[in-house]
Amino acid sequence: MARYRGPVCKLCRREGVKLMLKGERCLSPKCAIERRNFPPGQHGQGFRRRQVSDFGVRQREKQKVRRIYGVLEKQFRRYYGIASRTKGQTGATLLQLMERRLDNVVYRMGIADSRKQARQLVRHGHFTVNGRKTNVPSFVVKTGDEITIRQGSRDRTYFKDLDASGILRKKTTPEWLSLDPATMTARILRMPDRGELDLSINEQLIVEFYSR
Ligand code: SF4
Repeated sequence: MARYRGPVCKLCRREGVKLMLKGERCLSPKCAIERRNFPPGQHGQGFRRRQVSDFGVRQREKQKVRRIYGVLEKQFRRYYGIASRTKGQTGATLLQLMERRLDNVVYRMGIADSRKQARQLVRHGHFTVNGRKTNVPSFVVKTGDEITIRQGSRDRTYFKDLDASGILRKKTTPEWLSLDPATMTARILRMPDRGELDLSINEQLIVEFYSR
């Protein structure tokens, strides 16, 4: 699947919130939201903020989630379709689906600084799911799945440094995921609950956006 290749901090500035797309930089004073917290573009700074329509509010909420998880519109709409056909609350199911993406799981394991970096590690074939090499970032994990670093990749400097630095041992992972830092292996214990997701998102607005 295609991915967004444009400037990243612009996306945060457009939404007016930190979407945490760049790892450590997002926590530093270099963050664009800290320095230029106004919409990008020629008129971003100068013009009076317009009243946002109901449609605009819903659209912005949808864009925020898409951008956090690095998913393009067509694929996101497909996720929405799956969520709306699944039993339960559509909005919560949609967020759960995003959270179950393999690139997000690698990010949650603490192996990558950002979802973008996690996506690249997955694309480069460094991970196995239940013993099978999987290089598809959108792969959706399920309860009981075991995600680990491929044997051939363990000697890579990146993973060696990660192990030596002990970052994984200090990392707090979400409760739906168990991580063994010694083997860098994660197991999916259950499906993530909406309450566990550290996202300030009103998913109901996304449902309303697609139900127009
Ligand atoms: Fe967003 Fe991170 Fe860039 Fe800050 S540094 S604007 S949080 S991507």
